[in-house]
Amino acid sequence: MLYTRSFTFNPFQENTYIIYNELKQCWIVDPGMYSSEEVSSFTSYISAENLVPQAIINTHTHLDHIFGVNALKDLYKIPFGIHKSDLPVLQGAAGSAMLFGFDFKDAPEPDFFIEEGKPYSLGDDKVDILFVPGHSPGSIVFHSSEGKWAISGDTLFNGSIGRTDLPGGNHDQLLNSIQKELYQLPDETVIHSGHGPSTTIGQEKASNPFIRG
Ligand SMILES: [Zn+2]
Repeated sequence: MLYTRSFTFNPFQENTYIIYNELKQCWIVDPGMYSSEEVSSFTSYISAENLVPQAIINTHTHLDHIFGVNALKDLYKIPFGIHKSDLPVLQGAAGSAMLFGFDFKDAPEPDFFIEEGKPYSLGDDKVDILFVPGHSPGSIVFHSSEGKWAISGDTLFNGSIGRTDLPGGNHDQLLNSIQKELYQLPDETVIHSGHGPSTTIGQEKASNPFIRG
């Protein structure tokens, strides 16, 4: 069985997640820790829990979701995976950092590409990858059918949806991705978003003001 835990980092109040199993192997999702205090509070948690990071996997590569990638890659010597279609966003990250006034010189290099429709295994457990372009061209969702949860990045939020005014964003594509991928998941699926509190598919289908299922 796969479990998740969330952390909230940086001025954008971004949610970073870990996905872990009973063997204490873990994936780090969207590491957004920015200050050295945020990095050390995260790494202290990993050490205290005896977790063994295997990889960094990202739902997408906007600045607030990648601030911590380089520090964690250096520390744990683990690979960083993204969807190939988000590569232009990642490559533009240093530029947007400058625009927002953040100290972030080198965007991390991806070590592997994550493909939709292919299960990825952590130990004996697997997650499915849903391709949900719209908020960014290479946005993906990590879904555990056994755990009944999904990490949705900035595609779907509790009572809201992702913004599409950033480079590579597309509103119609976003709505289509939510309808064709996320809203096909069982209603009880818990949605862990890139910002704000968790929700469920059933709750969003019934009450999301931007898109009903
Ligand atoms: Zn984003």
